[in-house]
Amino acid sequence: MPLSHRWTLTRYLIEERRRFPQASGDLNALLLDVSIACKAIARIVSFGGLGDSLGNSLGAFAAPEAGAVNVQGEAQKRVNVIGNEIFIRMNEWNGQLAGMASEELEVPRQIPASHQRGKYLLLFDPLDGSSNIDVDVSVGSIFSVLRAPDEVVQSGRDVTEADFLQPGAAQVAAGYAIYGPTTMLVLSVGNGVAGFTLNPNLGEFVLTHPSIQVPADTQEFAINTSNSRFWEPPVKRYVDECLAGKAGTRCKDFNMRWIASLVAEAHRILMRGGVFLCPRDTKDPQRPGRLRLLYEANPIGFVIEQAGGRSSTGRQPMLGVKPTALHQRIGVVFGSRHEVERIERYHHEPMNRDVANPLFAERGLFRG
Ligand code: MN
Ligand code: MN
Repeated sequence: MPLSHRWTLTRYLIEERRRFPQASGDLNALLLDVSIACKAIARIVSFGGLGDSLGNSLGAFAAPEAGAVNVQGEAQKRVNVIGNEIFIRMNEWNGQLAGMASEELEVPRQIPASHQRGKYLLLFDPLDGSSNIDVDVSVGSIFSVLRAPDEVVQSGRDVTEADFLQPGAAQVAAGYAIYGPTTMLVLSVGNGVAGFTLNPNLGEFVLTHPSIQVPADTQEFAINTSNSRFWEPPVKRYVDECLAGKAGTRCKDFNMRWIASLVAEAHRILMRGGVFLCPRDTKDPQRPGRLRLLYEANPIGFVIEQAGGRSSTGRQPMLGVKPTALHQRIGVVFGSRHEVERIERYHHEPMNRDVANPLFAERGLFRG
């Protein structure tokens, strides 16, 4: 299709809105501002070690200032701080938001009194996978849009943590931008998933992947096997069966992938299928999962499910989980539907007694 005939993100959002004549268009305005934030971050990321476009030697990739850690206890790179600022500044003025929450901020961000407040909540991970940035591996931004509780909208009061603690199924839109060889925006407004590629000449996101579908079957799995000694038995069983390949119960060979960049893993699965596991394990009893429910698991889960895949904690559908804290972490399994269903089944089935594991012995923890 000639370039001029392709839809821009703006056109896609307008065409989607036309299906709902009552819709005000507020969500579109918000998503377009989110997309501009992503374009701005893409631009900064693309300058890499050069610093910013003004030749600022303290580039976005500069090492964190000594002792700078974010609310997650991770080294906070300058680029994370900049990405966070960009998301806030691009979205606080537009009148669509009642408040924001960011992976980088301990408490919700209020819309300043000088700006109008709106009916949505925006949650974001401004730069996911930022430790990959030094080695030039794809990183991304993840976003989620919720409706603010009616009472918040009517009163115009400040938002609290509790206002954000809604299950993933309540998201009205979610998506991510991936900063790789190309910059793409992948988005769902609750009617399937569309992918847009940033045309660097136009500076516009252009619809290149109109209806993304995750195939139900796959021969690819992704998990950090260096944690295998901490895995729970159902995860160990699943991976062992994949590794056994043709000779094992699965009767097919699998490939393994591990990029350690959530957006890149999700994007691969959306493009060609696969299953991703960052499961609950026993490595750190204080932290049974690694990924954040509200900024990572829910938005990615929404997109995966909208593309016909499945997203789970391993035990229950991710989008049904009622959050208990803004920065809550959780075990994550998502991807090709049949594989995720199999992993859930393994979590619910009592393990085969032939599998020698003391946890499943008569007096074991998981006695069937
Ligand atoms: Mn992240
Ligand atoms: Mn992040």
